[in-house]
Amino acid sequence: MECVFCKIVQGIMPATRVYEDDLVVAFEDANPAAPIHILIVPRAHYSTLNDIPDDDPLLAHLLTVARRVAEQNGIAQSGYRVLINVNRGGGQVVFHLHVHLVGGRSFGQRVIHAAVGMSIMMAKVANLFRGRS
Ligand code: AMP
Ligand code: ZN
Repeated sequence: MECVFCKIVQGIMPATRVYEDDLVVAFEDANPAAPIHILIVPRAHYSTLNDIPDDDPLLAHLLTVARRVAEQNGIAQSGYRVLINVNRGGGQVVFHLHVHLVGGRSFGQRVIHAAVGMSIMMAKVANLFRGRS
């Protein structure tokens, strides 16, 4: 099993978990783009958003958990972003579907785009060095 997020879900690899239930696990991003940067991942392995069937309740559950974790972190009212990168052209680096929850600081639009972009770029470089791009 090569998938890093499957390893985190199964507890083989360490991560700072902030939420979990029967369907998903949420943990802190290793290269945070903001004070709060949490990844919400399904326990089941789906490579990308494209791979979940239309009628799978997991689709709605990922968003329900994103806003629940935002509430837990006290950023529901101040504001946050939820985003999913899909495939290489969409900036996806880890091919186990995940939702980014980013917030905890009042960024302007351009700044947060740059921060998330920079984080993704740094993760790509790190993965290249680790030999698993
Ligand atoms: P994406 O570009 O949407 O595939 O984002 C992948 C995210 O996973 C990046 O923000 C990375 O910082 C994060 N990441 C990669 N490996 C780990 C890890 N072992 N633990 C936590 N976050 C990770
Ligand atoms: Zn996986």
